Amino acid sequence: KILLEVKGLSAVISESKQPILKGVNLVIKEGEVHAIMGKNGSGKSTFAKVLVGHPDYEVTGGSVVFKGENVLDMVPEERALAGLFMSFQSPVEIPGVSNIDFLNMAYNARRKRLGQPELGPIEFYGYIYHKLDLVNMKVDFLNRNVNEGFSGGERKRNEIFQLAVLGADLAILDEIDSGLDVDALRDVAKAVNGILTPKNSVLMITHYLRLLEFIKPTYVHIMENGRIVETGDESIAKRIERAGYKTISAA
Ligand code: ADP
Ligand code: MG
Ligand code: MG
Repeated sequence: KILLEVKGLSAVISESKQPILKGVNLVIKEGEVHAIMGKNGSGKSTFAKVLVGHPDYEVTGGSVVFKGENVLDMVPEERALAGLFMSFQSPVEIPGVSNIDFLNMAYNARRKRLGQPELGPIEFYGYIYHKLDLVNMKVDFLNRNVNEGFSGGERKRNEIFQLAVLGADLAILDEIDSGLDVDALRDVAKAVNGILTPKNSVLMITHYLRLLEFIKPTYVHIMENGRIVETGDESIAKRIERAGYKTISAA
């Protein structure tokens, strides 16, 4: 069953009108893991941000259908409630709001959208307690303020923790591997693998191959100059490791 269908998606930078995405096509089905790789500046992050409705970009053409709904008509909050999750790129500190309260609010907003009853603080605690193990987080993490004094590794773990708690039909992970040592990467990968089911899907964006050793992709795509120019299996990634991105245009 198709989860996301992107056709001819074009987008410009809102301010300068500079074109960045130039006709992206991508289909993601339930249960699949997709990886988008590509040189720095090829438009990977822009694509991710356009999918979740980031205001820095303006869509100028094409369509994005998620679970049968036209996502381009939705504000970012609606997209998230519909089950399209992206780890927050520049997480802000929210003074006076603990992680657990923040997650409880976000979780209840999603429950409401799904027509399910909200969870009170005690029930919610019961629900998320065991999810800490998934990302190797200590319980005191829940009572810290949102993102206050997090190290780089803790931020990444927190992103995956949010995903595990809130649930998503499609999780977009942009450079979840950047700046992580191999142990932290293994933890993050274990958590991502732990939330994968036959029903949900992951779109991973990475500049490096390392992540793909830990999370097995169904498909690997190469983005170049605002388009997906090649799609295949892991062997694409291996070829790039050998020969670099320059082999793509020649291929
Ligand atoms: P990638 O994630 O593949 O490294 P990006 O999507 O971040 O690439 O960027 C693609 C191109 O668009 C780059 O040249 C980048 O400088 C430019 N760009 C992206 N977003 C902005 C922005 N908000 N303002 C100015 N330039 C941008
Ligand atoms: Mg970049
Ligand atoms: Mg990027």
